[in-house]
Amino acid sequence: MQITETFVPGYECVITGSDPATGYRGMVAIHSTVLGPAVGGTRYWSYSTADEALNDVLRLARGMTYKNALAGLPFGGGKSVILRDGNTPLGAGPERERLFRAHGRLIETLGGKYITAEDVGTSPADMEYVLAETKHVAGLQGRAGDPSPWTARGVFRAMQASAHYRWGNDDLTGKTVAIQGCGHVGYYLARELHGVGAQLLVSDVNPANARRVVEEFGATQFPVTDIYAAPADIFAPCALGGILNEQTTPQLRAAIIAGGANNQLLAADDGDRLEQRGILYAPDYAANAGGVIYGCSVEMLGWEPARALVRLNSAIYETLLRIFRVAESEKMPSYRAADRLAEERLRGTAIST
Ligand code: NAD
Repeated sequence: MQITETFVPGYECVITGSDPATGYRGMVAIHSTVLGPAVGGTRYWSYSTADEALNDVLRLARGMTYKNALAGLPFGGGKSVILRDGNTPLGAGPERERLFRAHGRLIETLGGKYITAEDVGTSPADMEYVLAETKHVAGLQGRAGDPSPWTARGVFRAMQASAHYRWGNDDLTGKTVAIQGCGHVGYYLARELHGVGAQLLVSDVNPANARRVVEEFGATQFPVTDIYAAPADIFAPCALGGILNEQTTPQLRAAIIAGGANNQLLAADDGDRLEQRGILYAPDYAANAGGVIYGCSVEMLGWEPARALVRLNSAIYETLLRIFRVAESEKMPSYRAADRLAEERLRGTAIST
């Protein structure tokens, strides 16, 4: 394995590994270990250029620092990517094992400063391959496993906190929620919401995923482009990043945005635009921290699952209320208040609210 280190201002360590024998090419970015070892998943993705992969891993690693800090976890932020050759099938098999084992060897060189888990394009089975080469891996089968149900639970709690702040009541019964993306997180979120009697409006570019939620939870399906303007009380982005932007924000009819997708705001301006429209935005990395809170508590801190669930339920709810209070008292949009609270924790100071 050839390993090169790239100096990137603001990051503790950025390395690229290439292994011609297996065709592996991967990157690990450690943004911060101020609060503990850097925790963040591995993304297996086809990038057009190495620079695009580098930008992605840097942005995601920094996001993990903020997410873990705000969630009150004793972990820093990092992320890794495996560059997928556009022609390589995504299925299982010996090639996949070789790639993920090579990735495990790259992670092992960092001696525990970075701990990985699943992200887009990877599964608990892939983490078993990583485990063959390094113990610095979580999200394993038979342990915390797939984080999506816990991420969805956290988004549900973020919605309850937002409802409490906006309407003075946590109760989502009878509220209408528009869910964009019915994949792992969207599906489990729909299940939670259906369980309390919310009405669901859904869209997905993959019709089979939307159909499942329609059939199981009585949701109404919307065309992909119409979901922003759907007559909903709450809009839940659970697909891609960058979907809150100049084109989409004016269409929104919901009073609250709370969803699982990462990097929902295309740019900071878009958070300001939501504020100007009077829409209450639950910052993405605060709302979608359920998977990391549950997984880290069970697998790394050795907590009982029941205790980890209690932590998840209270941490996300309380954090969201805190963000909204700081935003109100400091007269700033909620996304800035979230950044501020995370930065206070990283600096070891705290804002009193
Ligand atoms: P997923 O791939 O299982 O689901 C995404 C779904 O969105 C798919 O069904 C896909 O067809 C659909 N989709 C894609 N583009 C769309 C569009 N333009 N309109 C409507 N639907 C579209 O992914 P996931 O694990 O559910 O993650 C969803 C989002 O949540 C991602 O942004 C991910 O980074 C973020 N996230 C996930 C977790 C987790 O635990 N899985 C944790 C934190 C953040």
